Amino acid sequence: MTFLFSPKVRPFVDETLESYLLRVVAENFFGSYEELSLAIREELHELDFDAHGAFPIELKTLNVYHAKHNSHFRMRALGLLESLLGLPAFELQKLALFKSDKSFNGASAVHRDGVDIPLCYIRYSDEKGKSSIPICPHCLTEDGYVKQVWHIKLIDVCVKHRCNLIHHCPQCQQPLNYIENESLIYCSCGFELSKAEASIASKGDIALAENLMKAEYSPNNPLFQSSSISQRFAALFWYQKRYSADSASCLKEAGTFFSHWPENFYDELDRVSENAESKLIELFNHTAFHFIYGDLISSLPNLNAHEKEPHFIRVALNLYLTRLVERNPKSKKPNVADLLISISEAARILDTSHEQIYRLYQDGILRSSFRQKMRNRINPHIGVFFLREVIEYKCSFGRDKQRMYLSAW
Ligand SMILES: [Zn+2]
Ligand SMILES: [Zn+2]
Repeated sequence: MTFLFSPKVRPFVDETLESYLLRVVAENFFGSYEELSLAIREELHELDFDAHGAFPIELKTLNVYHAKHNSHFRMRALGLLESLLGLPAFELQKLALFKSDKSFNGASAVHRDGVDIPLCYIRYSDEKGKSSIPICPHCLTEDGYVKQVWHIKLIDVCVKHRCNLIHHCPQCQQPLNYIENESLIYCSCGFELSKAEASIASKGDIALAENLMKAEYSPNNPLFQSSSISQRFAALFWYQKRYSADSASCLKEAGTFFSHWPENFYDELDRVSENAESKLIELFNHTAFHFIYGDLISSLPNLNAHEKEPHFIRVALNLYLTRLVERNPKSKKPNVADLLISISEAARILDTSHEQIYRLYQDGILRSSFRQKMRNRINPHIGVFFLREVIEYKCSFGRDKQRMYLSAW
């Protein structure tokens, strides 16, 4: 049943859902997205009472990740819209940004086409925000749609036309935002965006954007060596949190930082290790690892469970900690390798769950540094296990292997 005209040009694989819906608005001669959405709702009401209410009236809340609850109703509504437009099944769902079931160290993420991206890297993800969504005028001239990649805060260039994206209207200087303006080709002042002049982007910026988003890995920089784009975002997220980088310059700064990896990271950790003794209030074997090194372990990228290979930052840190323990053998006087690791940190190092760590403790494989009441659960965030013992236990399985440390039964 076709109720709406579908645009002559089918959805592009890299188009945003909002962009395609604006093309539907134009093609069907509606005055605004709201008129279209009310018409769609009315039609859906007949077809599926549950799903019709899930179809958003406002364009800025259209995308699936905006659904507060019941995102499956939103999906069903999109499926029904596909049939109203006479499109093949899943054609619109392929354009949507979904809430991801993964998180970047607790920060929520969105998902599209196999890639997870921290939500904080998505432009205009907060409906209250007034951020711009930049454009490439050459892309608009060629195909007249908005690309999903323009929504990624870390990207400010068009790799196809090798130019910088434009954030502000050259005529009225207002931030460009096609969702707010409900127009793919005009600014709200009437300026035709394809007439804007884009400056030439630097070769370095283009290479960074290209390497970040391409499926193959690039051998020159560990940041881009991972074949999974999600892992690259995990590295950027880690870098940004650790070094308080600004989203706009994060890709550039991280690109430079990781080109000296891991020597620069090891130098930084060596400085912390050398000063550790001067920071002590109690002896090393009564001091939490966290007290000296901060969130070094707990901030490690943690998408691993879903990835084929361990994250390169995790591999580098595990190697550092292993060497730290080797360089500081057990002696009468406690040393830096006797610092105390929490359950949550041990789980990160061994790449397993808190539950497994409790079992290793109950089985006597990991010893607590102080006497626990058997029935009390240990707070997962306080230092209890000696770093030395956790690392030695890990090394007994071979280096950097992902494996179960206990059988599942
Ligand atoms: Zn372009
Ligand atoms: Zn304008």
